[in-house]
Amino acid sequence: MEVDNQLDDSFDANVYPDLLPIYYRRLFPFSLYYKWLKYDDDKFFINREFSFTLKDDVYLRYQSFKDEEDLKKEVTQKCPFKIDIGAVFSCRPSDQRTASNFHPLEKELVFDIDMTDYDEVRTCCSGADICKKCWPFMTIALKILDRALREDFGFKHLLWVYSGRRGIHCWVCDKEARELSPAARSAIVEYLSVVKGGEYKAKKVHLPETLHPSLKQADKIISRYFEDLMLINQDYLAAPENCDKVIAMCIDPNILFLKMKEFLKSSLKDSKSSQAKWGIMHQIDDAILMKGFKNRSKHFITEVKFQLCYPRLDINVTKGLNHLLKAPFCVHPKTGRVCVPIDIKSVDSFNPFTVPTISSLCKEIDDYDASIKESENMDEDQRSIATKIEDCNKTSLRKSIEIFRKFVKNLG
Ligand SMILES: [Zn+2]
Repeated sequence: MEVDNQLDDSFDANVYPDLLPIYYRRLFPFSLYYKWLKYDDDKFFINREFSFTLKDDVYLRYQSFKDEEDLKKEVTQKCPFKIDIGAVFSCRPSDQRTASNFHPLEKELVFDIDMTDYDEVRTCCSGADICKKCWPFMTIALKILDRALREDFGFKHLLWVYSGRRGIHCWVCDKEARELSPAARSAIVEYLSVVKGGEYKAKKVHLPETLHPSLKQADKIISRYFEDLMLINQDYLAAPENCDKVIAMCIDPNILFLKMKEFLKSSLKDSKSSQAKWGIMHQIDDAILMKGFKNRSKHFITEVKFQLCYPRLDINVTKGLNHLLKAPFCVHPKTGRVCVPIDIKSVDSFNPFTVPTISSLCKEIDDYDASIKESENMDEDQRSIATKIEDCNKTSLRKSIEIFRKFVKNLG
């Protein structure tokens, strides 16, 4: 693997506990957080559960705060390694032990997509590792879900966030989304789940004869990336075991389809390139379709594409009202990277390897402050103005804060 593909090596995790207090004090956007989570009523903020993971995995659930100042005070004092956001409850979560009938009332509709769920379809890395060759799986997932949530469900306030290591999160913040029942959340995630079945299920996608417009749109998005991602970068069909997986997807008992399987068996196992093999699959599929092959498997090629590239969701995260999700702008303790929001308009150019780390940010502040101190071309007034600039504006976190600010402003 190339050196610049390795996410974790650039960060010295030992410095993390020392830099965290500086990060929370000088960079964490408390004010925007408060504006976001109070929506149009303070009670949404006051009754919101936060959970802190402290050093050595000490876990504090049911934290809640009066206001921005209270949140800031606790966070800068405790310096949690991780902050999670939970539901809005019927009363203050910090009073939950003494309150009667304490229960979750509402929460953003959230989605969690993790690269580890793509291990069976990526050839470049596995587990917690990611690289430039597999990141586009996340780009596809983001685009498919974003389109469906906006166009099929009419949601407007979506916050996409890089998880700091190997995945992405989505926070759907429309009032209608926050008020959804667990059953409605299940129905939505069910609607958005196309790849179904565990490791040992050969064919995980079964499309109906007439494709729903949402699936057609998903197909269009996947098709834009498929060749570069699966055939060139992943070179998926180069490995005989991956060809076997595709052959195993031919489960239709129709005689013509059995022929397809035979063809694939004989042609996919040679040393042709992934692109050439995919071309052959297309030809066989076209030939079969020409013979008037009319049943569900007319979408065989699309089903293969979906099985390889359609978003794989962690369903339980979305279903449960009480499920916690890592807060935006946390810093991942292993990679040092900030969980920054992703601008949907430039998602294709989002690069997890250039996301600022806590150490790069602290250095940027120091460098800026030093440059002001040492600058000989400034008079006292200029120097005074230059030192008053907000710390985040001294750093590359500025752009991420801007995306967040825009999102919060639009909540209106
Ligand atoms: Zn990879």
